[in-house]
Amino acid sequence: MKKRLEQVLKRIEAAAKTCGRSLDEIQLVAVSKTQPAAKIIEAIENGLTLFGENYVQEAREKFNALYAYPVTWHFIGHLQSNKAKYAVKMFDLIHTVDTIKLALEIDKQAAKIDKLQKVLVQVNIAEEAAKSGATAEEARRLVREMSQLKHIAVQGLMTMPPYFNNPEKVRPFFRALRRLRDDIQKAEIPGVSMQALSMGMTGDFEAAIQEGATLVRIGTAIFGERE
Ligand SMILES: *Cc1c(COP(=O)(O)O)cnc(C)c1O
Repeated sequence: MKKRLEQVLKRIEAAAKTCGRSLDEIQLVAVSKTQPAAKIIEAIENGLTLFGENYVQEAREKFNALYAYPVTWHFIGHLQSNKAKYAVKMFDLIHTVDTIKLALEIDKQAAKIDKLQKVLVQVNIAEEAAKSGATAEEARRLVREMSQLKHIAVQGLMTMPPYFNNPEKVRPFFRALRRLRDDIQKAEIPGVSMQALSMGMTGDFEAAIQEGATLVRIGTAIFGERE
């Protein structure tokens, strides 16, 4: 893992350099779905502190096993309202809010534990039928609606663009997400920060960084192929 991780960090650094961005603006979210706790510990020992999980139940087990480690967890999977209670307890940032129903549930659960839950709006930027995420129009409305919720802090946008094995084909979707972000930012909605852009995975994170990603979600390039 050490070698793979070094490679990833080098590639992030090189990508940032090509567009004159500072490395401080780019956070690596190590996607640890399906990886056992032992692998995550190995990653921690190699200097990683931020992990992304997709499934609430799986994350709860790891969260309990690793509670003594100084790590931060992000939720990057599809979140069902009935699991919001657990997600709010574990995750520093939820990347995947895409309906007001889910936002209201998160707000309610966060109120119960007196937490200000940081969230991103997941945008289905290509409007693919089978994918979760709000359309651009829905995202604008959702950000406004969430700005009224006391226990939610909107921090930006996330997307899972269509899959291509050529990152240049994915780049226009990253660019579109960034434009949408810039546009919402211009509205200066009170209590809303639009600083975060969660985009880019193993196959395309360099292009995502060049298009403004502040959170890159990388699994395979760090841990190897998932079982
Ligand atoms: C699995 C997953 C990733 C990481 O994918 P890799 O190609 O393994 O880097 C990133 N984001 C989300 C939402 C995922 O589900």
